[in-house]
Amino acid sequence: MMNKLTREALLNYRGPWLVFCRDQVLVDEKGALPDSSWASLHFLHHYADQVQALPPLEQTASPPPALNILDIGSERLNAPGWQWTSLRHILTGATAIEFKEYSRAWQYIHFLRTHQFCGQCGARTEKIGWEMAVQCRQCQHRTYPRVSPSIIVAIYRGEEILLARGVGHRDPQMYSTLAGFVESGETLEQALHREVYEEVGIKIKNEEYYESQPWPFPHSLMVGYFAEYDSGEINIDKREIVDAHWFNIHDLPKIPPTLSIAGRLIRDIVARLKK
Ligand SMILES: [Zn+2]
Repeated sequence: MMNKLTREALLNYRGPWLVFCRDQVLVDEKGALPDSSWASLHFLHHYADQVQALPPLEQTASPPPALNILDIGSERLNAPGWQWTSLRHILTGATAIEFKEYSRAWQYIHFLRTHQFCGQCGARTEKIGWEMAVQCRQCQHRTYPRVSPSIIVAIYRGEEILLARGVGHRDPQMYSTLAGFVESGETLEQALHREVYEEVGIKIKNEEYYESQPWPFPHSLMVGYFAEYDSGEINIDKREIVDAHWFNIHDLPKIPPTLSIAGRLIRDIVARLKK
């Protein structure tokens, strides 16, 4: 959950600031997140009572500092020496811990923006102080941040893996694993078999859970699997996939970075198949 900051805490804070505007983040001229005092961010001063602190998720011996977060919504604000960049851009350069923290912050901000009114009666909601939720003032209906599970799978066949280019992919050179949302009432395994069959027309077997990763665009939880090819020929669904192939593990195309579960799935299945 996020806490409102006291005046004193705001003035003493030293650490990264995440200032959101639409789906962009404030950075300095070099493209780095603000890491200075509140005093130096004078163009934001009339938002002082909206700054919130997000404590770190990891309870490690040296946890990262709480993140100070400010959402100015759709306001257009420009100041010399500062610019706006996409969240994706910030995440690309982040360390693994930063990635987790920044993407969690964005999911909370996205939740608060899209739950200002009650879905049951339409009255205004307000933030609950002790957990990440909003509650309706009128009918008490309480809402929590949405988490949308998606399966993501690396499929192998002998020394080959199946990789595809999705319709929404920005980089036309990059090939990745298949992924898709779990539908209401479906198990993860059912979603896995259905998505693979829908997207590329093949059957899989021997699925194995790998790991999961929250993915903040805008609130997915990617659940990763390895699976072995069973039967069928590749037959792509053109609404979702541009191209899909079996790639030899010694001759792979450009693949996603390891910050994403897709990148780790591919590297780990390749490492295993090479043994
Ligand atoms: Zn209500």
